[in-house]
Amino acid sequence: MIIKDKEFGEVIVRKSPLSRGIRFSVSTSGRLAMSVPTYTSEFLAKRFLNSNREIIREKLPIKNPNEQRARDYQKKILAKKAREYLPYRLEYYAKLYGYSYEKCRLTHANTRWGSCSSNKTISLNIGLMKVPEVLRDYVILHELAHLNHMDHSKDFWAEVASHDKNYKNHEKKLKMFSPGL
Ligand SMILES: [Zn+2]
Repeated sequence: MIIKDKEFGEVIVRKSPLSRGIRFSVSTSGRLAMSVPTYTSEFLAKRFLNSNREIIREKLPIKNPNEQRARDYQKKILAKKAREYLPYRLEYYAKLYGYSYEKCRLTHANTRWGSCSSNKTISLNIGLMKVPEVLRDYVILHELAHLNHMDHSKDFWAEVASHDKNYKNHEKKLKMFSPGL
């Protein structure tokens, strides 16, 4: 459920049977998010929002409605670029080094650049489109190496190193960027 609010813009209301009380947080888009018990009505959610307005304003870094929309737009552009690039780049390196994976998934998590699951799905963050190509390639090679080693063991790093000699430097440089938008 989305509540339109004059001050906070679109407020995301997530109903969860596990949630006992009402909790406020900030969504990845900078919107105010509320998690509420399943039975909570819109009326009740709005009332709760109104009575906590001041504390939300003070404590939570909510983006204003214009910034929220700007971020949506930026994400849309980035997702489009990513769709047109990352799956092909992954395929290129997989072919080059003889890896086979099941599928490529694009994500926009705030914390991870990529992941590789045991069912051979490789996930890549659309935020990779913001980092230099050499770091983007490093993440791809890192995830491909996980197809053979599902850990960060010595053998894993040796495999990464065989495709990217400067991987340590790339791993370090990547920390200067954040996958979130
Ligand atoms: Zn890893």
